[in-house]
Amino acid sequence: MTEMSDNLLDVSHVRRTFPRGGGEELLVLDDVNLVLRPGEIVGLLGRSGAGKSTLLRLIAGLARPQGGSLSYMGAPIEGPAPGVAMVFQGFALFPWLTVLENVQLGLEALGLPQTEIRTRALAAIDLIGLDGYESAYPRELSGGMRQRVGFARAVVVHPNILLMDEPFSSLDVLTAENLRTDLIELWGSGKLPTKGIILVTHNIEEAVLMCDRVLLFSSNPGRVSSEIKIDLPQPRDRTTPAFEDYVDQIYVEMTARRVERMRQAQAAGSAGIALPLTHVSPNQVSGLVEALAVAPYNGKADLPDIAYEQELEVDELFPVAEAMQLLRLADVEGGDITLTHMGKRFADSELNERKEIFSRALMSHVPLAAHIRRVLDERTSHSAPKTRFLDELEDHMAEDAAEETLKTVVSWARFGELFSYDDDAALFSLENPT
Ligand code: ADP
Ligand code: MG
Repeated sequence: MTEMSDNLLDVSHVRRTFPRGGGEELLVLDDVNLVLRPGEIVGLLGRSGAGKSTLLRLIAGLARPQGGSLSYMGAPIEGPAPGVAMVFQGFALFPWLTVLENVQLGLEALGLPQTEIRTRALAAIDLIGLDGYESAYPRELSGGMRQRVGFARAVVVHPNILLMDEPFSSLDVLTAENLRTDLIELWGSGKLPTKGIILVTHNIEEAVLMCDRVLLFSSNPGRVSSEIKIDLPQPRDRTTPAFEDYVDQIYVEMTARRVERMRQAQAAGSAGIALPLTHVSPNQVSGLVEALAVAPYNGKADLPDIAYEQELEVDELFPVAEAMQLLRLADVEGGDITLTHMGKRFADSELNERKEIFSRALMSHVPLAAHIRRVLDERTSHSAPKTRFLDELEDHMAEDAAEETLKTVVSWARFGELFSYDDDAALFSLENPT
């Protein structure tokens, strides 16, 4: 029995896995729940690899879940619904078609008369600020204009739900901001032929700027871990204290959850090798430690502040802060990052001592690094092929995550001179066997 729902979209207990070698499965989405109500822009905020695009594909009817259910205006989603349209990060335009033809393409599938297709496409082009560019080809347009074509092609079908998958992330800062502002203005004016929007993003400020509600999406497996209602009138001003408070609050929630996960993984001892690592170079770690050590921070900073100062985005800052935390060079708590005693020593040290600190931190706090070192110590050859560890990691995570985790540990171990890795031979070895 289907319950009556006034929601545009109901996603309930959705689970999605992908097959992996050896008949195993990778759990990408687990128990995902969300609703989209008429008149809302809902943000899905999470790190890359969390499963956000996978979820959008399920909502668009381009793929099916293994468990749970999705419904669009009360009816189960069993394939692409004509009322749901998507804007992609990479524009996805056809280079050999003009702007008008690219936009019309969205309508061809609906089987409308040719004159109506043309009229509606021209209206969408006009609405989205592309008037005068109808006969231009994508290559003649800037990135911002191309993404406008992407928007026009999505709204031309008058979708009840507009799905946007990081639509601003491949644009430069100013262009992205113009497009965000225009979109919010159109939405506010009621001219957008759409009832609700889901915006996927990894940018906290973008989420706070545009959304009525922000759903924080956690990784491994992906699920909605909390919801923050943004109670600010549009248009919003990034510089107001209320805006900054929301950004801070989200930073705090996102870091708190990750810290907890990391502690659990470390507490799990050797089982902690299952912790996926995001690639961060020792240089990035050193850079942030150094920046934190000196004025104006003197060892402690507000995460959003230092992100802004260092011109880093969340997706870039979190992994660095996390690596520092994992290595116990810093603590992250309540939206602040604070150098530990060891972090301060690291900042004050010469290169050789830094390497030593790094090496000791790897052995004590990064189970995978300690594990690899132990295996190499125990083997008479003091070497092991990459597959030895890659296979082991792939029992716990997706192939690309395993590759990245291993790559990360290799670069850290190189810096700490804990072991070495030969890329060509795909071989781990001890440089200085003890
Ligand atoms: P996000 O959009 O949040 O960056 P994705 O939804 O693209 O994340 O991917 C989530 C995870 O699912 C990743 O580990 C990715 O490798 C995996 N994945 C996505 N699509 C497929 C697929 N078709 N086959 C196998 N794994 C996939
Ligand atoms: Mg994605």
